[in-house]
Amino acid sequence: MRKLYYGLTCGVFLLSGCSSAGESNGENENSEAQTEEEPEKQEQEDESITIGAAGDVLLHGRVYKRMEEDGEYDFTPALKAVTPMLEEPDYTIVNQESIPGGEELGLSAYPSFNSPYAIVDDLQDAGVDMLSGANNHTLDRGMEAVNNAINHYEQTGMDYVGVYKDEEDANRQRIIDVKDVDMGVLSYTYGLNGIEVPEGHEYVVQEIDKEKIQEDVKAIRDESDIVVVNMHWGDEYERLPNEEQKELAQFLADLEVDVVIGHHPHVLQPMERLEGEEGNETLVFYSLGNFYSGQDNDYTDTGGVATFDVEKDGEDVKVTEPNIDFTQVVPGPEDQYTVKPMAEADHPANGGETEEELHEHVYQWLEDEQ
Ligand SMILES: [Zn+2]
Repeated sequence: MRKLYYGLTCGVFLLSGCSSAGESNGENENSEAQTEEEPEKQEQEDESITIGAAGDVLLHGRVYKRMEEDGEYDFTPALKAVTPMLEEPDYTIVNQESIPGGEELGLSAYPSFNSPYAIVDDLQDAGVDMLSGANNHTLDRGMEAVNNAINHYEQTGMDYVGVYKDEEDANRQRIIDVKDVDMGVLSYTYGLNGIEVPEGHEYVVQEIDKEKIQEDVKAIRDESDIVVVNMHWGDEYERLPNEEQKELAQFLADLEVDVVIGHHPHVLQPMERLEGEEGNETLVFYSLGNFYSGQDNDYTDTGGVATFDVEKDGEDVKVTEPNIDFTQVVPGPEDQYTVKPMAEADHPANGGETEEELHEHVYQWLEDEQ
């Protein structure tokens, strides 16, 4: 099933460099034989994994209300067409912008969101492994929504980062073993829509603070093969990163962060590779746009599933094959908001953009890696 999807994508984007993304399995098949013959080479294990990431899941009333039947919410039909894109990577991270504090609290939408629990279950069934929770809507419905959401994450076994239930949870490093590659994940937001963090709950969400980021990155870097940082930043509806994003991206590169995953602008922004002070390379996705929302401004109905490969050869770790496969939110069979691979959307995009145009847009600073 996974190969099938990549075959399809490569057919659509001959230039997008997706050829090796699906070929990351099976490298250990001969490891036993090698160990017997050449024991000294055992630690030179060759690993390759694919990581995926998607942008904002922001459930407006018109999105979730249309997925309700008899008081139950089911987002499966809306996510079905993009499930192969989320399942294909070895590990997939999504920005859960509207907090899933559950029905018991009363669901709500803009400007103060609270989403049904089912979105967590259905994203998980669709192939999402981790939700990033640090964003400007984290505290929309206070600590109760946060605690409900985290309880639900724990019940379903959904990994989460950027939003925490207590001090201990906030201090627990997120280091994910993805097929023997240890990936450290962090998550920060530029702000909380003016909502004050309740006193005594300073652990709940991490805001962008260079000193804290530096401390966190240093600590997690020692324990991880790669470090991925989610950044909720930038200006809404701007198709290019602002000066602050650029400056922060360079700051993260200088800390030897390997990959930066950006969200908040609700539109796709380009990818870039930066060189850090130590001569290291950092891959930056400035913004992945909306993944699943009811926004209808220009360019907000298109987003993408980003992928990159991590190749580990002993101590040497490389991030390769940066790619974005485009998605579009389109009216579903009964006017629901449905996410589709853009190639299958069969519906004009709000900004009139085509896949080719988006491809050029996101690769404009990475032309030699198309
Ligand atoms: Zn946001």
